[in-house]
Amino acid sequence: MATTREVFQGQKTLTDWDLDVWSERFEKGPLLGKVSKVSDENVMPFWHRKSLSRMTPKEWESLCDGCGRCCLIKLEDEDTGEIHLTNLACGLLDTKTCRCKDYENRHDKMPDCLAITTKTVKTLSWLPKSCGYRRISEGRDLAWWHPLVSGSYDTVEQAGISVRGWVKSEARVKELSYHRYIIDGFDD
Ligand code: SF4
Ligand code: SF4
Repeated sequence: MATTREVFQGQKTLTDWDLDVWSERFEKGPLLGKVSKVSDENVMPFWHRKSLSRMTPKEWESLCDGCGRCCLIKLEDEDTGEIHLTNLACGLLDTKTCRCKDYENRHDKMPDCLAITTKTVKTLSWLPKSCGYRRISEGRDLAWWHPLVSGSYDTVEQAGISVRGWVKSEARVKELSYHRYIIDGFDD
């Protein structure tokens, strides 16, 4: 098997101010706790109003629920091409907070961290079905547990979507042993 860390990389609404708070927390704070609550129930949320390509960078980033699933190591069966998911996380993922330890420089430090863009989102078959980008690109809505809908990051963990707390960093495991960490059935 060869390692293929092919990772990248509701009706409630958020005002721009709410999104600013969200972004600040995403960049600086732990992916836990509450997101500012909805202020106007009559305004259609941006992910209903806009296509992915028309979203602002801030809106785009906020679609990520911080689950960390795309940061798990995947193994490819060289004979069949089948992709197996493991419960080993990229060495740059903080397994306690589920955040990338160096998001800004991740592509320099982890060259095989693939960016999710409006172009790649439809081709990255390993993106979990729960992923906010995949859901929107497939015409589905964000789930109840998504922070933009629930107002809290805690729901990502409550719904069993987050990898926080049950994955191990690849940095602590020899590559030859990766196959021992293969898991099945982790998707929604
Ligand atoms: S929402 Fe998607 S991009 Fe964000 S961490 Fe989860 S799988 Fe990765
Ligand atoms: S570099 Fe960061 S964003 Fe990329 S896979 Fe690793 S932890 Fe995830």
